[in-house]
Amino acid sequence: MNTINIIDKLYKENIATREELLYLLDNIDKDSINYLTEKANEVRMKTYKDKVYMRGLIEFTNYCVRDCKYCGIRKSNKDADRYRLTVEQIVNCAVLGDKLGYKTVVLQGGEDPFFTDEIMVEIITKIKSILPNNAITLSIGERSYESYKKMFKAGADRYLLRHETATKTLYEKLHPNASFENRRKCLEDLREIGYQIGSGFMIGLPEQDNNSLVDDLIYTKQLKPHMCGIGPFIPHKDTPLNNEEGGTLEKTIIMIAILRLLLPDTLLPATTSLGTIDPTGREKGIKAGANVVMPNLSPTDVREKYSLYDGKICTGDEAAECRMCIERRMNNIGFQIDISRGDSILWEKESK
Ligand code: SAM
Repeated sequence: MNTINIIDKLYKENIATREELLYLLDNIDKDSINYLTEKANEVRMKTYKDKVYMRGLIEFTNYCVRDCKYCGIRKSNKDADRYRLTVEQIVNCAVLGDKLGYKTVVLQGGEDPFFTDEIMVEIITKIKSILPNNAITLSIGERSYESYKKMFKAGADRYLLRHETATKTLYEKLHPNASFENRRKCLEDLREIGYQIGSGFMIGLPEQDNNSLVDDLIYTKQLKPHMCGIGPFIPHKDTPLNNEEGGTLEKTIIMIAILRLLLPDTLLPATTSLGTIDPTGREKGIKAGANVVMPNLSPTDVREKYSLYDGKICTGDEAAECRMCIERRMNNIGFQIDISRGDSILWEKESK
């Protein structure tokens, strides 16, 4: 076994055993990282070419009933300055996004009981009545099957629910009073209802070793999500994990590239957290096989309050500035912004 052979196998067959994935993570060096990212880039060029899809992110509430130990908006953080956007503000953001060329809007928030099914249906219905051809992605955590179904019927198209870590013991340490099994069941429910689903995980969580990252790779390969969002864990000063180290650029890039080889058709974002730990982190993510960016569309006065981790970038920029900035950044590395809805190829294949 050697790292180059494993990368070649991933490239040709889009598969590897647990032992091979672990060997690769344990032994990868600078040369094989370069080889890995070149191969991942080649695969992305075959599937999605040099197109980078854009999603406008609206962070509409930072109230949350959960207590995830890594997250700055966890309910026990009494220093978080809580806010909720009104239905009208959310719809206005989506309309502004459309004008800026975002044909997908992502509505993300903490798990906030204020946003009942009825209110979510109202928001989705209003956006779809104005922008019938645009896609709506939801990212509002764990809800019941019935709730997911109501929102889907109202017009929601996609749902992001990162599995966070596929190692049960680690998941349980990080998520008090939450169920590892339920989070996964939610992803199954969402798929069954008809959503395009997005899973994902953080890199560099405390006690997360290469074995655990292999769990994430294997779970994601089996789940075959339409999207998979991975980014470094970054400590937040007002959480129990404030003194931890956090994830590295290098490890995140390696994981993006391996996922691209395992799942050629899956949409992979170059996340804001990656852009936070390195000024050109998102560009490096794209060059390693990612193909989505999610600039912020939230009103500037709430950006800092949606503080999941310290140092988050772009909190002061108007939506139009973020839009132009991201296009410039992508063009600088030879990629083109694609302003279509950007459905995953996997979805298109499944729909035929
Ligand atoms: N409440 C929804 C949910 O649970 O899926 C969506 C909002 S949640 C804040 C969005 C994502 O932020 C989480 O899935 C998690 O991976 C990420 N996140 C939270 N805290 C983070 C941190 N300290 N560093 C990096 N990512 C973080």
